[in-house]
Amino acid sequence: MKKLFEQFYNNKVLSIAAKICGALMPRINNLKKYKNILKTVSSINAQKLKITSNPISIRIAPICVCNYSCQFCEIHKDNLLYPNRSRNEIDLEFIHNYEFFLSTAYFLNFYGGSEEPLLNKNFGNFVQYIKQKYGTKMTVITNASMLNKNLSDILINHKFDTLLVSYHAASKEGYKMLMTGKVERVNQNLNYLKNQKNRLAQKKPVVQFNFALQRLNAKEYPLIFKNSKKFDVSKVIVNKYYGGRNLLQDKNVAYDYDTEEGNQLLDEIYAHAKQKNINLHPKKPSYWSKLTSTDWSPENFVASKKCFLPWTDLHFNPVLDDNNCHYVGICNRIELFKIAYDKIQFRTQEQFNLLWNHAALQYLRNTVNTIDTINPICKYCKNVNRETLRNVDAQKYAEIRDIAVQNFFKELRRLYRFDEIKGITVLEENPNNDAHYRDALKAKSEN
Ligand code: SF4
Ligand code: SF4
Repeated sequence: MKKLFEQFYNNKVLSIAAKICGALMPRINNLKKYKNILKTVSSINAQKLKITSNPISIRIAPICVCNYSCQFCEIHKDNLLYPNRSRNEIDLEFIHNYEFFLSTAYFLNFYGGSEEPLLNKNFGNFVQYIKQKYGTKMTVITNASMLNKNLSDILINHKFDTLLVSYHAASKEGYKMLMTGKVERVNQNLNYLKNQKNRLAQKKPVVQFNFALQRLNAKEYPLIFKNSKKFDVSKVIVNKYYGGRNLLQDKNVAYDYDTEEGNQLLDEIYAHAKQKNINLHPKKPSYWSKLTSTDWSPENFVASKKCFLPWTDLHFNPVLDDNNCHYVGICNRIELFKIAYDKIQFRTQEQFNLLWNHAALQYLRNTVNTIDTINPICKYCKNVNRETLRNVDAQKYAEIRDIAVQNFFKELRRLYRFDEIKGITVLEENPNNDAHYRDALKAKSEN
């Protein structure tokens, strides 16, 4: 969809046509999402700061806990900081409260943070309600260990769209070591889903595997591919493992350290997939580029890189130390607000605008694609060395990010005046600041 927005970005005629089509389209529940896309196109083209279109893609963490402790996951950092983390398990009332803008979204994705969405006991109810009423495209990122028969039947009956299964190893030992669960249970669940889909002649939900390649799972790919065939997996997404605050951070498992070896392995993997007729994504290997330096120059950013997320996306992410709350942002780089979702209603455009057209969003829309006035977090995000730094120096990466986040909020407060709103707190720093983690780590080692 980003390509579509890029085409419309500089084309006034197309944008006016989209606006007229959007205005003429009837307000039938199932059509609302298309009308909203057309309105968004027009907002982006006009580079509007206050917009009447709603987000196209919404992401919600439906719960804040996980039944796994994968080695590569930031769950270890979260558990250290918040040993008694809040569950924040949302229910159908939550969905009703957000229905005004959920009803116009094209995509609704359930994931975010170190949590397993299918642990939410209401998950099947969300799917039934939203699919029946709005036909929204839905995706969940899951370890699939909780995909029981009842839930599989609901997902099939309501044509839930995509299950992206974290499947970073396929051997019993490899899976247990890396993901800490039982691969047999996951396989059993996927097998039931496949058989039921076949029995009912249904194509959905489509299942995809997510395979983040690194040294510890480099030998797992033949079995991952074999199982993908066995369970009718539509594609295996080959990701390059990326670092972070996890149990592997000091083990140099990323191929960023030896790009030549990583790229040779990618060639092997793609050749094997071709031979076995496995559909990989991306279609061609996305090679590591040679690690030159992780020296950080703030001005080394790609100004031509356009981003439209402030007009199109909205994320509701886990808050681990407070009940009935979410952090809210529009991308993975920064949380903008903390929301107490039991203290605020978003049932009308006016109520929703308090969030969606808040000064923080206006500031982002105004400065995300500029050069001289680009805001600190987008400048950091577009830096050419950011991804490499993330993979090879978790601490430096986090420090630079946290300063960029802080500077974003300082600039926001310097440039805009905004009132306090009950239930919406504008943040001042990264709530998951790395310094908090380092302090907690130090305290733990001193005890
Ligand atoms: S299953 Fe996902 S959220 Fe849970 S520990 Fe593993 S990576 Fe983290
Ligand atoms: S930080 Fe800015 S450029 Fe990066 S994804 Fe977020 S909005 Fe887009």
